[in-house]
Amino acid sequence: MPEVAPIPLSRLTTLRTGAAPARLVEAASAAELVAALREVWAGGEPWFVLGGGSNLFVGDEPFDGTVIRVRTTGIEELPGSHDGTVRLRVQAGHDWDALVAETVERGYAGIEAMSGIPGTVGAAPVQNIGAYGQEIVQTLVEVELIDEASGEVSVVPASELGLGFRTSVLKQHYGSTPPRTAVILSVTLELARIGDGERPIAGEQLRSALGLDAADTVSLRWIRDHVLATRSRKGMVLDAEDPDTWSAGSFFQNAIVSEAFARTLPAACPKWPLSPELDPVRVIPLAAFDGILPPPPVERREVKVSAAWLIENAGLSRGFRFPRSRAGLSTKHTLALTNRGEATAAEIAELARFVQSRVAAEFGLVLQPEPVLVGVEL
Ligand SMILES: Cc1cc2nc3c(=O)[nH]c(=O)nc-3n(C[C@H](O)[C@H](O)[C@H](O)COP(=O)(O)OP(=O)(O)OC[C@H]3O[C@@H](n4cnc5c(N)ncnc54)[C@H](O)[C@@H]3O)c2cc1C
Repeated sequence: MPEVAPIPLSRLTTLRTGAAPARLVEAASAAELVAALREVWAGGEPWFVLGGGSNLFVGDEPFDGTVIRVRTTGIEELPGSHDGTVRLRVQAGHDWDALVAETVERGYAGIEAMSGIPGTVGAAPVQNIGAYGQEIVQTLVEVELIDEASGEVSVVPASELGLGFRTSVLKQHYGSTPPRTAVILSVTLELARIGDGERPIAGEQLRSALGLDAADTVSLRWIRDHVLATRSRKGMVLDAEDPDTWSAGSFFQNAIVSEAFARTLPAACPKWPLSPELDPVRVIPLAAFDGILPPPPVERREVKVSAAWLIENAGLSRGFRFPRSRAGLSTKHTLALTNRGEATAAEIAELARFVQSRVAAEFGLVLQPEPVLVGVEL
């Protein structure tokens, strides 16, 4: 197993917290990754995989187990499912934004609005990354993964990953265990070959973020450049010089609430109705069918509400921090909790709890963290 001298996780995570773990392994090939995982699983010790560390909040106490850093890279081009498409199989440790840059360069459309999202390709399906109306679920065909339960490698179609709003069956949400413990080895995306010509943008969310009308035509490169500029203004592109980007991105998820609860929130709070899930097909065996159809399932309607609005309207403004604390809200964006330099995980957790308690007191809901927490309680 390619073990290296452990270094503090504060140097490998964008929120910049965490001591050195007991063991650190770096896997540069899929074979090394598989071998390392099987060895760690056989030993039964605590473990987790680390990509770019941009969606992790690690506690101050050293992690007493093995951290496996995924450093595999490579893009393989495969035929698409029909004319005008192409498939890319990308190794899990490949840098996500480098992949986006490459697809734009080759004239392949489908992930350009997700320019500038930090992290690795293998972590992208874990929380179904997305920005400006584009999500990886829209282009993901399948992943190659290794399951902890069986130790076996298999190819799993995207439809079996439970991809939803910043979630999948692989994501460890706060306070729960993921339904499937597995590590992604590679990801296959299907993209449209459109070249470098100019076209209208289909997505309303992206058009409005970039100030475009439905009739405007732009190239993939134009979209990428303008998405990067827009994200930079909000501190959402990593910048070693800008503490507003020393974060895990959005620290809190937009809340998903019932339609009835959403009506109790002020009208000014941005709300986006989620389309109800299609009714599941119910099969009644002919022998059991008594001629009476069961009533249709009650439709549960849910609404997504803006966590940034809730925070700002709970009295917390951009740049908020406690006196003497080295953790603060970004000065550009209230959803990002930032490390202003040498902040401990305890300082960041203190701020996170305060934000949660202010929003709960004002609006009656508890915001859930988006990053995966390791050795930290909120
Ligand atoms: C400035 C900034 C802006 C951001 N903007 C966005 C945004 O616009 N949209 C968005 O969706 N996210 C955003 N994020 C969050 C983050 O970039 C994504 O979640 C990204 O996919 C995390 O990748 P990573 O490699 O850094 O994962 P890590 O932080 O290393 O890991 C995150 C989780 O995934 C697991 N994991 C990592 N690799 C694998 C693998 N190969 N197989 C299985 N599990 C794995 C880890 O164990 C951990 O539980 C932002 C973060 C920052 C810091």
